[in-house]
Amino acid sequence: MKSRRHFLQTIAAPLAVLPFLSKKDLEEITDNRSKRYDGPILRVAIMGLGSYGTRVADAMQSCTKAKLVGVISGTPSKITNWQAKYNIPEKNCYNYENFDNIKNNPDIDAVYIITPNSLHKPYAIRVAKAGKHVISEKPMALNAREGEEMVAACKKANVKLLVGYRMHFEPKTLEVIRMRKDGEFGKILFFQGLSGFRIGDPTQWRLNKQLAGGGSMMDIGIYSVNGARYMVGEEPVWVTAQETKTDPVKFKEGVDQTIQFQLGFPSGAVASCLSTYDMNGLDKFYLNGEKGFAEMQPSTGYGPIMGRTHKGELTQPHKTHQTVQMDEMSDIILTGKQPIVPIDGEEAVKDLKIMDAIFEACRTGKKITLEL
Ligand code: NDP
Repeated sequence: MKSRRHFLQTIAAPLAVLPFLSKKDLEEITDNRSKRYDGPILRVAIMGLGSYGTRVADAMQSCTKAKLVGVISGTPSKITNWQAKYNIPEKNCYNYENFDNIKNNPDIDAVYIITPNSLHKPYAIRVAKAGKHVISEKPMALNAREGEEMVAACKKANVKLLVGYRMHFEPKTLEVIRMRKDGEFGKILFFQGLSGFRIGDPTQWRLNKQLAGGGSMMDIGIYSVNGARYMVGEEPVWVTAQETKTDPVKFKEGVDQTIQFQLGFPSGAVASCLSTYDMNGLDKFYLNGEKGFAEMQPSTGYGPIMGRTHKGELTQPHKTHQTVQMDEMSDIILTGKQPIVPIDGEEAVKDLKIMDAIFEACRTGKKITLEL
């Protein structure tokens, strides 16, 4: 954050159209071309150089307020490749054994943890102890108790804890949230969330209880859990859930294949959701209120998100989710900006409490009461 950089914001205006532009348009283009970002930059090290880590790193190349400056990895060859690809200096490269030394590195502000789920908590606590801000991928932890430990550790170390809830910055999602807040759907009655894909390789960590902490619910069902909350705009007070498992070889004990769950909200609104590793391309949100509806499909993929409401198609332009997320996280961490939908550790603990209750409801067959 200490170094200030100038980023030229250029806008593309093909030369061919220039003769047709008014003087005012031309002045605006010139003004925009010379507009500089002179604010603070969040300097980030990515931990876990896998598939999603690579997507985040690529998206960060277009960020204005955040910059990839370091890596933490268990694979030396990936470190070498990333150093060359993203121009990362040797002094900002760490492995899982020595990354506590990051505390002595004044050129890194935050670590973005993009490892398998069970490693988020232990690594987040070490990052916090090293005095760096923590960004964790979802699910933030394996259960609410672990999540609370992470929140406490970051508070104690006086660092921020944010979670990669990229949908909280997605323009069409934010428009539906605005409409709901402005009463355009009337009283909310019902939410449906469908989240799933057909998982392949049975040996991957996502199907390993120790590393994943569960199955589809931890990985993809969490989008419907979190989505139900930001779409309905309330916190659920009860949960019921049912699990279906037809392939106990691929989906071992504690690794869910398909879970249906229902949430009840204080207003009387209900949600009905499906989380699965067994159906292709399931990615749909539907919100129904007394005066209208919103329908999004795809609703949480990398985009473009598509959707319509009773007022017509949602037309907000697509922006690369991870680029927007990292620029917004920079503002949240460095300037104290408040996001429209929270992305902090406390927000993630609420999702984890709901998921704990979903698993309990599957186990016991009972309706579980929630207090978030
Ligand atoms: P990958 O398997 O592709 O990458 C995980 C990386 O973590 C590995 O490449 C490895 O990097 C590192 N790692 C450290 N320890 C282990 C271990 N014991 N086993 C395997 N890998 C290890 O997973 P993803 O990138 O798909 O997922 C990582 C996290 O990101 C998950 O928590 C997932 O839920 C989340 N995610 C979030 C998405 C979103 O849209 N917000 C989308 C996809 C994933 P290295 O070799 O550098 O150490």
